[in-house]
Amino acid sequence: MTNFKDKVVWITGASSGIGEALAMAFAKEGAKLVLTARRRGELERVKRETTLPDMDVLILPLDVTQFDQAKPATERVIAHFGHIDIMVHNAGVSQRSYINDTDLEVYQNLMNVDFFSTVALTKAVLPHMIARQSGHFIVMSSVAGKVGTIMRSGYNAAKHALQGFYDSLRAEGYPHNIKVTTICPGYIRTNISLNALNASGDKFGKMDSNQAKGIPADVCAVKILDAVRRDKKEIYIGGFKEVAAIYLKRFFPNLLFDQVRKNIPE
Ligand code: NDP
Repeated sequence: MTNFKDKVVWITGASSGIGEALAMAFAKEGAKLVLTARRRGELERVKRETTLPDMDVLILPLDVTQFDQAKPATERVIAHFGHIDIMVHNAGVSQRSYINDTDLEVYQNLMNVDFFSTVALTKAVLPHMIARQSGHFIVMSSVAGKVGTIMRSGYNAAKHALQGFYDSLRAEGYPHNIKVTTICPGYIRTNISLNALNASGDKFGKMDSNQAKGIPADVCAVKILDAVRRDKKEIYIGGFKEVAAIYLKRFFPNLLFDQVRKNIPE
């Protein structure tokens, strides 16, 4: 996809962080946007800040774990814009808790937000893309989708699940001209650690120092658009340490496992 002008781009998790930055980046390119998250007020703020014409931005508030809403939400988008060119699965929540302390419900919640919501929305959107023989999924995985680390077990599991599911979709979508770009960021400066779940499912509420020192979300968004423009299948965005961890896991897994063991979060 060389040009995003007038392309219909549906972004989940568009009320803050990387999703908000993606909305701004696609808006700059003249795309038409569907903005989804739970907080309507924040979506309205992002819509205003894009300065796009009213009809070119559809606010679609949704808790993505309401799986039965995936189809009706998709029908609303089709009714408004006629089709969907790009689906950005970006809504997500992280974790800050040890396995031994963490309630099973917290794991279920993490899997619902970070994995099953994308399956539900993909299954709603895919038939429309197959009918048009065109579409592109952008999937927000993480370095956590490649490497399992301490206090992130459920988040790691959900992001690893995304990797497998969307590798399959990339293969199954190929005959229909449907593409998948999987994004694996390292530390990006957003509210993700503030919103992360603790052992009992409450918000962690603290800004991690690694997160605070991370890449700005708008820089991350520009790299994502560039990857989609070049039809990249998978990209890594981050500092040297995070990206190196992916290669270490691939080529020297025992070295990586030793590093992870020693890397106790604050
Ligand atoms: P933020 O916490 O800033 O944003 C998370 C977004 O997800 C918000 O817009 C939030 O909106 C939305 N969201 C959360 N739960 C739900 C829900 N149940 N239904 C609908 N929307 C929901 O974090 P980031 O911007 O950093 O995270 C965006 C994505 O990037 C996530 O998938 C994350 O895993 C991934 N990522 C982030 C990294 C980082 O370092 N920041 C690194 C690697 C990956 P609302 O609260 O309004 O519903």
